[in-house]
Amino acid sequence: MNGLMMQKQLLISSLIVHADRHHGDTEIVSRRVEGDIHRYTFRDCHRRARQMANALTRLGVNPADRIGTLAWNGYRHLELYYGVSGMGAILHTINPRLHEDQVAYIANHAEDQYIFFDLTFLPLIKAVAGRCKTVKAFIAMTDHAHMPKDAGIDNLLCYEDLIEASSPDYAWPRFDENAASTLCYTSGTTGNPKGALYSHRSSMLHTYAAALPDSLNCSARDVILPVVPMFHVNAWGLPYIACMVGAKLVLPGPALDGKSLYELLEAEQVTVSAGVPTVWQGLLGHLEETGQAFSSMRRTIIGGAACTPVMLRKFQETYSVAVLHVWGMTEMSPIGTVGTMKARHVEMSMEERYAVQSKQGRAVFGVDMRIVGADGVELPWDVATSGDLQVRGPWVVRDYFRSEGNSPLQLDDDGQEWFPTGDVATIDADGFMQITDRSKDVIKSGGEWIGSIDLENIAMAHPAVSQAACIAAKHAKWDERPLLIVVKKPQADLTREELLAFYEGKIAKWWTPDDVVFVDAIPLGATGKIQKNRLREQFGDHLMTRVAN
Ligand code: AMP
Repeated sequence: MNGLMMQKQLLISSLIVHADRHHGDTEIVSRRVEGDIHRYTFRDCHRRARQMANALTRLGVNPADRIGTLAWNGYRHLELYYGVSGMGAILHTINPRLHEDQVAYIANHAEDQYIFFDLTFLPLIKAVAGRCKTVKAFIAMTDHAHMPKDAGIDNLLCYEDLIEASSPDYAWPRFDENAASTLCYTSGTTGNPKGALYSHRSSMLHTYAAALPDSLNCSARDVILPVVPMFHVNAWGLPYIACMVGAKLVLPGPALDGKSLYELLEAEQVTVSAGVPTVWQGLLGHLEETGQAFSSMRRTIIGGAACTPVMLRKFQETYSVAVLHVWGMTEMSPIGTVGTMKARHVEMSMEERYAVQSKQGRAVFGVDMRIVGADGVELPWDVATSGDLQVRGPWVVRDYFRSEGNSPLQLDDDGQEWFPTGDVATIDADGFMQITDRSKDVIKSGGEWIGSIDLENIAMAHPAVSQAACIAAKHAKWDERPLLIVVKKPQADLTREELLAFYEGKIAKWWTPDDVVFVDAIPLGATGKIQKNRLREQFGDHLMTRVAN
């Protein structure tokens, strides 16, 4: 017997309809590529998203067509989030920090019909335009007055011209909630990028779960500034969450340096922000230099890479900003775990609570996880055992876009499907997961595993260290040993011996890195993560040559 509830499909368009009807005058504030601040409301956004849907229909866009974007966090990008997915087409957010060959590969693999771009990315569009086989036109996200002259691109259209020529009379179509809504390619460090194809249903369920108090904890009283880009897993779902809960949204555009972010956070009285640790380092550096503090920020969501205990303490103790440590991946829409306390943790000492918060967190309802050994057998939830982390749930991929039958899923003994994350982790008795490494970054010394994240966290706690990465370096006797690559703080004095002595008493002696290499900069990938593969290429033989010499 079926229940007698309405059969309403979960569609992304319903979010902007809700935001218009129930929070119509709530603001969306954007820093534009042109440098000025743009301000309008959810009602305006909804109107222009409908105009864009009409424009796309006129351009011949059909349901399931892929529409690419190369754009910062801004109101026009938000209109595309709703206009494109809402009409039944698929929004394909491309990471503009990728190499142009990868951008061309992705646009061709996705068979994008149109590509929208912020003017910042005009040089990139010029470089790839001739190679994008399926793209009918490139649309500059600007007004007529700012259109590039003599761009040398045949099929160039203007965003505001399209909007102006289109009526806001548009009824969002109703269709199956399993239809694809959004496409996002992983920034894989090896092989070609792979496409995670989200559905309306998966995005909506993810939005509900991500907004919960023990998840990202967002409400109509919040002002949300996603620093995490809208091209990186839908800015972790925050553009959808803002509509669902009716929160004011502040979009920082291209200005992601500490000073610009701080000014915007203060001017708009932002209460919650989200981004990868490298961005927060810039912001904290600016605050330290200027002696400024936050007047409205209450929470910061940190994920994408491990939040170091030092950063955690600085936010909470110095700036009274609570840290939400989250873990997830492109393949998970992205949220998997959040490090929010259970009731019994509240009674603990601050030190014990910091230890809990430093972990990547416990599963959000909807996501199940487990760790397995090399034989695929599930491992116990204690702090001592680490294994390969697997997940499953309604917003986890079951296949990649056009993967030609190479599903990544693995089956357990009961025939249940699990997605192998590629992360190595422990899970404690309370269900808090802690990443010890990416499986390809694990250091295997004499057959024993050493977790690089622990070693990096200790280095980052040294007052003279600005950035640290620990890699597996080849070793004649032990196969691999940890090698620490460090960027010192400006004007800081630090020797190899001092830094290695700093490890004493903090870890088992044999985990201590064999050597320290001081560098001016550590390479970061397209989503702000340390590129350990490049460090391994550069320094992988360091210990061999040191011994040989
Ligand atoms: P992406 O698909 O680019 O979002 O990358 C996902 C990967 O980033 C995960 O598989 C982890 O290796 C890493 N990651 C994400 N969040 C965290 C975190 N809080 N701590 C450590 N690693 C993280």
